[in-house]
Amino acid sequence: MEYINLDMSDKEHHYEYIVSACLCGEKTRYDGKISISEKVKNLVDEGKAIMVCPEVDGGLNVPRLPCEIKGGRVLNVESEDMTDYFVDGAIKTLETAQKYGIKKAILKEKSPSCGSRLIYDGTFSKTLIPGEGITARLLRLNDIEVISDEEFEA
Ligand code: SF4
Repeated sequence: MEYINLDMSDKEHHYEYIVSACLCGEKTRYDGKISISEKVKNLVDEGKAIMVCPEVDGGLNVPRLPCEIKGGRVLNVESEDMTDYFVDGAIKTLETAQKYGIKKAILKEKSPSCGSRLIYDGTFSKTLIPGEGITARLLRLNDIEVISDEEFEA
């Protein structure tokens, strides 16, 4: 699974935002489905945003088993510990932000990587709790403002 960003490194770029790739029509979600936001996709089309998918960048495939955070670890629905993939993807996302000097991110709510206000509670029962995903947390710890797609749409 790959998604393609235009490489504008040889031109002047104006990326203001990191955005979740699945919000732009890329089939990076665990279930291979799309969660498109036309408003977010427009930012990419206008060259103002660069897409990331921390889970794919961290080495996970599409489709993959659903994962949730429990006790500070990321477990899939078969209780396998997937934390290292999520941390790896978060670090790669931070590196992308730092490479382009980006200070804002618009990420998909409820994801164990991208969730910024709400995540699932680790019981795989569709129960949401206040919290943030691994990537959202790492970006915030590095002074990058993170908002959710829902806040951006509002
Ligand atoms: Fe979308 Fe983030 Fe999940 Fe990737 S990790 S599919 S960008 S919500």
